[in-house]
Amino acid sequence: MTLLPQLPSTPTVNNDMTCGTCGYNLRGLSPDGRCPECGHPIEESRYDPRLAAADPRWLRAIRRGFTILLVSEFATAAARLLGYAIVTTYLAYQAMVITWFIGVTLYSLGSWIVASRDCVCPPMFDPRHLRRVVRVCAVVVWTAMLIWTIATFTGNLSPHGTLLILALMICCLSGDACLFLLLRRFARRIPAPALAWASTSLLFFVPTTVAVGLGLNMVYQVLVAIGHPNPIAVYESTAGHAIRTILTVTGWISLVALSVVFFWFRRRLSALLSQARQAASERLRATASGSQKDA
Ligand SMILES: [Zn+2]
Repeated sequence: MTLLPQLPSTPTVNNDMTCGTCGYNLRGLSPDGRCPECGHPIEESRYDPRLAAADPRWLRAIRRGFTILLVSEFATAAARLLGYAIVTTYLAYQAMVITWFIGVTLYSLGSWIVASRDCVCPPMFDPRHLRRVVRVCAVVVWTAMLIWTIATFTGNLSPHGTLLILALMICCLSGDACLFLLLRRFARRIPAPALAWASTSLLFFVPTTVAVGLGLNMVYQVLVAIGHPNPIAVYESTAGHAIRTILTVTGWISLVALSVVFFWFRRRLSALLSQARQAASERLRATASGSQKDA
């Protein structure tokens, strides 16, 4: 009788680990099975939500997303400064619109990348609806901005068209809100409570500021559309002026806050990635010295 060589057994949970639903000890069970007590997938109990345990390729991708978001804030700052400095000449106005367009393009691209899927995350923990809203809104805002930019150059947009684009942009502030919800989740997975708090603050602050700004613009466009004799007068009134001053201040505050938060995320992700690299090289060294001892 020949003894068959022992086949490598299927991977098992080789440490004490409790089921995420009922607390049953899953030691010795196959990771792709289910809890014998309650049927909860073992893969979901095994899942480590910390970003340190995530796929480094995905971490690098979202770090790239944060870099692009950070650069988009610089473009937005440039557009704002151009707006103050040389808005009176025709050419400068076009330059400002193009700079805004570049800023929105980068912001949309960065949001799209940050909302990419973490492939090791089980479907139960994947915030796919959030990610989907962020991506759809990024495309809608970018398209609206593109039409607006082209219309600025060709002068082909009716007041109604402008109104539609503004309405579209206001609707897509939910995309912004979802982006900050996503960032809050990332911060909790680092874990970085201060960064999570900052993301929650942005969640309320940034969309409100943008909505009021675009809303004010909409009021003006509505006045034009309904044939108000002097829409500029309403815009230039004391109330209009006060709102615009508040908006200027809050606009700069949110720009600085966003840049800080994007930079902060980028740094934390870089730290996680270098930790992961270090751990991998230490493992490699340990394996190498282990095999030397065996020899
Ligand atoms: Zn269970």
